[in-house]
Amino acid sequence: MSALLIDGKAYAADLRNELTAQVAELAEEGCQPGLATVVAGDAYPAHAYERRVRRLAEQLGLHYVREALPADVPEAEAVATVGKLCSDPRISGILILRPLPPQVSEATLYRALDPLKDIESVHPVNAGLLALDRPRFVPSTPASVFHLLDRYLRESGRDPERVYQGSNMVIVGRSANVGKPAVNLGMARGATVLSCDVHSYRAGLLFEHTAHADIVIIAAGSPGLLRGEHVRDGVIAVDVGINAVPDTETGKIRLVGDLDFRSVAERAEAITPVPGGVGPITDVWLLRNTIAAARLARGVATAR
Ligand code: NDP
Repeated sequence: MSALLIDGKAYAADLRNELTAQVAELAEEGCQPGLATVVAGDAYPAHAYERRVRRLAEQLGLHYVREALPADVPEAEAVATVGKLCSDPRISGILILRPLPPQVSEATLYRALDPLKDIESVHPVNAGLLALDRPRFVPSTPASVFHLLDRYLRESGRDPERVYQGSNMVIVGRSANVGKPAVNLGMARGATVLSCDVHSYRAGLLFEHTAHADIVIIAAGSPGLLRGEHVRDGVIAVDVGINAVPDTETGKIRLVGDLDFRSVAERAEAITPVPGGVGPITDVWLLRNTIAAARLARGVATAR
């Protein structure tokens, strides 16, 4: 491997220290930020993520509420649960975990959020503000991708703005919570952004596009999709994907990304590992947004 490994765990630890100080400061003002999660059904990834953020929220001293709904919850009941959390003054931020069961529309549930508590910017108002480069909250995963890139570039002696401006940035995956906001953030920083999805792949064009990327960000949920032969020498490769696959030797489940780590690392300037890259920062960033929402609510309350 010739690439430099970007250590997301170390970056996350630094961010976490900053949050500890912020929580203490708010506590002195008599304010305890509160996070609520809504999970419906039994999907393993949603529950695993919920457990991680709950642990972190508790460690940081935040108020925490978990709403676990059955897989057959009627949509109206899920909407009512979100509404209840929106009117709870102890809750500053709400996270709706995916996947949702088929009878509950993501769009409907997102619209039920109070935009001031929508810490992932999935409500149409917040998604619109983000698209207009005026984000209220930057969603935690794409925020973590750019935090990681900014810090890596600074530490390697470069000005991130100068690197982004005019660079070829290819983003694979265009979900509402990861790919699309990452496209907005890349454009806002002056990169020439190309958004690829499953159609690019089926058209046989995906790897033609990634081969020209200076920076590639992949969030497809497809283990090992991008290999060394699909990227150029010196690319900076950020792997958002988290996929549970059985280990070929031991048969045990292990987590892998969307990059074929070994072959991409042979050619890249820098690469993020899975686990230990974007994921740990995402968890902390969600709490960071919750604290920001608590501050925002205080500001709004004072202004009233
Ligand atoms: P979604 O399933 O919502 O979106 C996947 C996107 O990837 C879609 O836009 C899809 O295209 C595209 N895609 C799928 N297969 C291909 C392919 N072969 N070629 C090109 N594009 C493809 O997933 P998420 O965005 O929620 O998550 C993506 C991955 O990131 C998952 O592995 C998830 O576990 C992980 N994740 C990690 C986080 C972290 O903190 N590290 C946080 C959130 C997610 P189309 O739209 O055309 O279907």
